Amino acid sequence: MRVSAAVFDRGAVRVEELDLPERAAGQVDVRVDAAAVCGSDLHTVGGARPAPPRTVLGHEGVGTVSDADPGARDLRGTPLRPGDRVVFALYSACGTCDRCARGLEMKCRSVLKYGHEGAARPPHATGTLADTVRLLPGVPVLRVPGWAGDAHLVSAGCAVATAAAVLSAAGPAEPGAPALVLGAGAVGAYCAAMLRSEGRQVYVHDPAPGRRAAAERLGVRTDVPDGLDFPLVVEASGSAAGFAAALGAAETGGRVVAAGAVSPGATEVRLDPADLVTRRLTVAGVHNYTARDFQRGVDWLLGPGQFLDLEALVSPPVPLPAPGEAVEEVFALARGGAHLRVMVAPSRAGARSPV
Ligand SMILES: [Zn+2]
Ligand SMILES: [Zn+2]
Repeated sequence: MRVSAAVFDRGAVRVEELDLPERAAGQVDVRVDAAAVCGSDLHTVGGARPAPPRTVLGHEGVGTVSDADPGARDLRGTPLRPGDRVVFALYSACGTCDRCARGLEMKCRSVLKYGHEGAARPPHATGTLADTVRLLPGVPVLRVPGWAGDAHLVSAGCAVATAAAVLSAAGPAEPGAPALVLGAGAVGAYCAAMLRSEGRQVYVHDPAPGRRAAAERLGVRTDVPDGLDFPLVVEASGSAAGFAAALGAAETGGRVVAAGAVSPGATEVRLDPADLVTRRLTVAGVHNYTARDFQRGVDWLLGPGQFLDLEALVSPPVPLPAPGEAVEEVFALARGGAHLRVMVAPSRAGARSPV
């Protein structure tokens, strides 16, 4: 089978045709209906994170099963059959190593991260900015109904699931308790919307007016009151100033969940340990998510999230260029920041059906 996929190599992104072997036992092939460009794709292409040669890009997507192992099932135990609409996690985990046993499957000793692997590493089609992605047996998958649109579901495997992991780290909600989210990128926006669904009073801070407006359309407030301390602060901006501000905005006994900073060495912050100790603060780091978080995120998208205009966070679909062509428009749009996510529709436009 031949797959068209966006591949980053030596400073440029091009659509390459990858030759795939026969699908192996346990694997599931998914025709990508829509994919989205995440901030970490931009980090890879911008050189901010190390990337193997011929990195196959993209890890957010929604698609349709084109071929599946007869025994393949989703997280709910439903068999996966050709024609099923699915979303899927961005990692494959072994399920048996010490980290998987401790509930850290996203940090599995033999993890494969979709969107961050070289084309030489099996199963080769490891990116969603492609007409087909091949899922290993260790990838959490969920069937999704047809009524939920591509733009509504496209971030299920990264931004939404990470936001769900932030909620897991935040702990149970007290109705009406205030929460502050710093940074209204995709993770921050989904976090704010999910925290509000829990009944919290959510404030969002972001210096960009467009992002504040997008957050307000999700029903959260951006007029953060001066001097209010928060029992929960979510750091989703990724900046050193954001992290320091998060600590400063937490009330005594409060909790800071940090999910924004992911590039090692890019962010430093001065910290007085006595501040952490005497104010009895709890700081939790969240990077990626568990299968349970992924399911929590999808349940939210299909539950309370269905009543929100999440499509407004996502651009109209952009085609994936033909094989051999550069993928410029997509990344230029993503860098431009007019939308929290730029959506690519690989199977529908430009790309041929896999043969
Ligand atoms: Zn991502
Ligand atoms: Zn493992």
